Amino acid sequence: MPEQPAEERRKNFNEVALGYTKEDALAEASRCLSCKDPKCVEGCPVNVDIPGFIKLVCEEDFSGGAIERIKGTNALPAICGRVCPQETQCEALCVLGKKGQPVAIGRLERFCADYERQTGVKVPEVPEPTGKKVAVVGSGRRAYCRSRPCKTGGAQSHNF
Ligand code: SF4
Repeated sequence: MPEQPAEERRKNFNEVALGYTKEDALAEASRCLSCKDPKCVEGCPVNVDIPGFIKLVCEEDFSGGAIERIKGTNALPAICGRVCPQETQCEALCVLGKKGQPVAIGRLERFCADYERQTGVKVPEVPEPTGKKVAVVGSGRRAYCRSRPCKTGGAQSHNF
């Protein structure tokens, strides 16, 4: 992933990593084999449809398709693409990692989230409350992501 040169980054507080360009993302996404039994998904704590969103990246459907596919189970793609330990989760189980480099799933996720932010984030519609309540135990990303479908389904969720 491209980075700020050391001489520049020592003078600012911006991110060191600059993120993928569109060309980088397309090249990396083209490495995915679209496995029938994708082990990478088993390694993801929120079970993102990884081959599904990567296929949409290959089709250059970044913000309409790929980011929506990720958000189906992960409400925090820009954060997870940056701070999740992919090397011990999804990427650790990528079949390509057995003989070489796994697909850079986190970097592709980050690219999709950043692309959406730069081109216009679609704020999900909030339906009328149904009056139902759901308790979600935990305050980590998995718990937060689990509470999102409740909200989009009209239920009120509370994290404990
Ligand atoms: S295991 Fe690797 S190659 Fe297979 S679908 Fe997942 S990211 Fe693609």
